[in-house]
Amino acid sequence: MRTELEITLLHCRNLPSPPSVAMQIIALAQDPNATLGAAAQLIGVDPALSARLLRVANSPLYATRRRIDTLTQAMAMLGLNATLSLALGFSLIHGLRGHNGTAELQERIWRRSVLAAMAARQLGQQTSLKRAETLMLAGLLQDIGRLALLQAMPEEYAALCAGTEDNATLLALERERFDADHADVGAWLARRWNLPDYLAEAIAASELADAEDPFLRCIQASGAIADLWLAPPEAAEVARELACARIESSIGRGKEVLEEVLSQLAVSLPEISTLFEVRIDQPSHLQAISDEARELLILRNLRQIQDASQSHQEARITEERMRQLSEQARRDPLTGVYNRLHMEEVLEQEFAAAGVHPLTVALLDLDDFKKINDRFGHLVGDQVLRQFAQTVQRTLRSTDLIARYGGEEFLLVLNYSSESSARQVLQRLLEEVSRTPMAIVDGQPVFTTFSAGIATHNGEPENRFNSVHELLQAADDVLYGAKREGRNRVRLHGA
Ligand code: GH3
Ligand code: MG
Ligand code: MG
Repeated sequence: MRTELEITLLHCRNLPSPPSVAMQIIALAQDPNATLGAAAQLIGVDPALSARLLRVANSPLYATRRRIDTLTQAMAMLGLNATLSLALGFSLIHGLRGHNGTAELQERIWRRSVLAAMAARQLGQQTSLKRAETLMLAGLLQDIGRLALLQAMPEEYAALCAGTEDNATLLALERERFDADHADVGAWLARRWNLPDYLAEAIAASELADAEDPFLRCIQASGAIADLWLAPPEAAEVARELACARIESSIGRGKEVLEEVLSQLAVSLPEISTLFEVRIDQPSHLQAISDEARELLILRNLRQIQDASQSHQEARITEERMRQLSEQARRDPLTGVYNRLHMEEVLEQEFAAAGVHPLTVALLDLDDFKKINDRFGHLVGDQVLRQFAQTVQRTLRSTDLIARYGGEEFLLVLNYSSESSARQVLQRLLEEVSRTPMAIVDGQPVFTTFSAGIATHNGEPENRFNSVHELLQAADDVLYGAKREGRNRVRLHGA
């Protein structure tokens, strides 16, 4: 760049400068130890910037399936580099706008930048480049040189721009007047701002057409696509050919990719306009093709939505399966009631919480069960065990728990039952069991009874236990007593 222009720019008191949050983002982007946490802290203090990142994360630019509600979620989804690129783009465009009386021209400059940014992003997606956000940032900043020129010499540059809306003509005028163009000025500015090298290089190359590097080629093509969008109808054909040629030389399939990029632009336009606070209309000369493209897009989006809901459903099924499996692991396969392992876990928890409320356990053992097996066979024995478990479950309150503790032994946990009410509950249960047929053999009902030992842990001196084990031991002791006394009865510890 010519020194004379450089001196003019350097002496310009209001040369655009990045807002402080942008400076901090630039510094963070160059810190090899940067973390998402540090970025979140920085971005979090700027509510407008945070809101914009959230918005972009939920926008159609990212086909996220879940709603993103917090900055942390948005950043986790985007990743550190994408977050920093987007944040830098938003903070720059926000901070550099509208400082003097050239608002309309500025708007025009930003319009091209934003369109180019989106085009660069799309071009990246059409190639193996991916790097969507860095392309977007480079596309967005490619014309910052024009802002600098406008700021440094408002009248002169505005007069230059007034002569033409066409980028190629403008470049020629710039080169003639300053011996440099806005790309040179932009690259110079990017270096002064300490922007990453790749950005300064992309800006420097933005108005050339011969880059080897695919990243730079995308940026070069992005400007041509923005120019096509902004071209007046009579210049549209020429602009289209130029854009096509640029794409052809950068990624090939010129016409096809151009159509794709244009239709993506058309679809995401409302969102982009809001995000970047730039009003961008769809030109009439692009209306026809993009109607067609829009239909295609709608179809494709529909398919994406279907895919999303299908995978959502699959996730639900897996979740349900996991739930079933973990529920299965707690159950006794023969009777379907809880197994001993699960009940012991529950008891440990209940025991820790007991004190405020009494905790009552009852051990039940079927009477002379061996005889049922001997007389009717093992299968009938199984049927009796199943029917017995069901009868207990049906009779107890839903807050009471039953587990199969051993062969024909069951453990009940009676929540919040005092000793005496537990005895009543068990007595009623015994009556119910003894009159309910547990199986039918040769048309004849098979009946059974049980013996039960109850123990309550309730903080009173005679009912205070040191552990679940002690509590169960006490219940087992009185159960043994009930058996000795002749079976078919309920006994209470300490009574
Ligand atoms: P008591 O009144 O003293 O409790 O006598 P009991 O016959 O019920 O007690 P004992 O402990 O002598 O016998 C229990 C029987 O339960 C022995 C065992 O074969 C049977 N048993 C244990 N598990 C199962 C099972 O899953 N299915 C069947 N059918 N029988 C079982
Ligand atoms: Mg037994
Ligand atoms: Mg028994």
